[in-house]
Amino acid sequence: MKSLGEKDVSGKEQDKGTYILLTKLAKTQKIKPGKLPETDYKKGTYLYVGRARTGLRARINRHISRQKKLFWHIDYLLQKAKIVEIWIRQDYCAECNTADKIRDFKPTAAKAIQGFGSSDCRCLSHLFYLLPGTKGLESLRNEIGFEKVKIDGNNL
Ligand SMILES: [Zn+2]
Repeated sequence: MKSLGEKDVSGKEQDKGTYILLTKLAKTQKIKPGKLPETDYKKGTYLYVGRARTGLRARINRHISRQKKLFWHIDYLLQKAKIVEIWIRQDYCAECNTADKIRDFKPTAAKAIQGFGSSDCRCLSHLFYLLPGTKGLESLRNEIGFEKVKIDGNNL
């Protein structure tokens, strides 16, 4: 597994890109992500798609940290849910395209949470709830061209 922030062949650190947080919510509960309405978030696995033009590593570390001012929709979910995997792709323009592909991944399996993380684009959502028993996540990851990464100092 690659470490985030690893240098590429030219010696340049790749610190931008699109990322996916695979998160788990241990029990169903009400969450109000900022201005979005409070709703029940079901127990289970969520995929969140985001991007960082610079400072990808710092962004991911911010997501992992719970001590922060809540700003993005995902910040509210991450007060309750745990990040279990981080996937990245060194292409910071892939965000919306990736969200489309997740939505189309076995359409019956991934349910979009309307308006979540997509205030600045035309997507329905950048957060997807995976119905229990959803299989094929590794093949989805390969298909959309993301690598699983580990982060220094964080035991994920
Ligand atoms: Zn989008």
